[in-house]
Amino acid sequence: MNSLFANLPTTVFETMSRLAREHGAVNLGQGFPDDPGPEDVRAKAAEAVLNGWNQYPPMMGVPELRHAVARHYRDWQGLDLDAESEVMITSGATEAIAGALFALIEPGDEVVLFQPLYDAYLPLVQRAGGVPRLVGLSPPGWRITEEALERAFSARTRVVLFNNPHNPTGRVFDAEELELLARFVRRSNAVLVSDEVWEHVVFDGRRHVSVLALPGLRERAVKIGSAGKIFGMTGWKVGFVCAAPELMRALSKAHQFLTFTTPPSLQQAVAYGLGKEPEWFEAMRAGLQRSRDRLGQGLADLGYRVLPSAGTYFLNIDIGPLGATLDDEAFCRRLVAEGGVAAIPVSAFYAQEPVRSVVRFCFAKHDATLDSAISRLSAFIPAFVTA
Ligand code: GLN
Repeated sequence: MNSLFANLPTTVFETMSRLAREHGAVNLGQGFPDDPGPEDVRAKAAEAVLNGWNQYPPMMGVPELRHAVARHYRDWQGLDLDAESEVMITSGATEAIAGALFALIEPGDEVVLFQPLYDAYLPLVQRAGGVPRLVGLSPPGWRITEEALERAFSARTRVVLFNNPHNPTGRVFDAEELELLARFVRRSNAVLVSDEVWEHVVFDGRRHVSVLALPGLRERAVKIGSAGKIFGMTGWKVGFVCAAPELMRALSKAHQFLTFTTPPSLQQAVAYGLGKEPEWFEAMRAGLQRSRDRLGQGLADLGYRVLPSAGTYFLNIDIGPLGATLDDEAFCRRLVAEGGVAAIPVSAFYAQEPVRSVVRFCFAKHDATLDSAISRLSAFIPAFVTA
């Protein structure tokens, strides 16, 4: 067996969802919405299953979707993408990330990653032969600093695996941080692989800025998106990869032997969905922002220190100030078993020197779910504080 995978624990998302089922807990752990997703998009998929093409679609994706992706990013992010040579459809963003790493890394190449990091990144980098170099982000600001980049980049940096908006911190990196990162990438020989799956889930009037729009990165960056996050249907696993033609040629070689294609019915439905009127996207954000505020206020009223969330489905609390004698993992285990609420310990997103006082909650839920979580948490606090 490959020792890397044989020795990996089961992903924290699966573990916490299982514990939530076992304890009948409200599941604010794994990030998925209560809402079933837009009915018209689901109807298109059903229609395409019944009456459409169900054999292999083209390896790069159905033309309708590749064009819809190019149009969508033109309209929303000002990008100028050629659908034929610069857009590829994958089975979710995770496949896109794995494919990009396999296609770009030679064994021994250094890969810059930002910690806390989404749990799939590190094993994929290592399996591809990459040597991880971590840029630490620290709470409560989680900012990218020049000193941290200076320490992580070297002459051997081949890939930078970036994530913006950032899971699990809920940060949207600002113009100054993006410019700093772009400067380091331009000075290096690296390709910037950017996981932008949360691009539409940004709050308080923010607009997403893709790495492809940063000066000097149009030919050096790979942008990855996901219909699952845009439409709140996380099981769909329809991802988009955008990159200049030369990079795309290598990326497509990895994709052709990872999954080769993605269900054509879902691709047709996503092509339709990406063309939905801007009001739908604005309403989706506004709804999630209300949910963020509902959960955030509820947690703050209970005395928790709530960290800001500018995007994603997530907000974090810092349990340190409560005088916790428990670390985040023990807190989450007790919360799910005794308090009946599942959350994610943010230390699970660290490769080394974890921060152990931050706990992530998913707020992409109906009001009743959030209210029930808050009321359970209010009963949990006294037991927890006196423990
Ligand atoms: N992206 C989801 C989250 O952060 C988890 C996806 C998964 O369970 N693999 O909660």
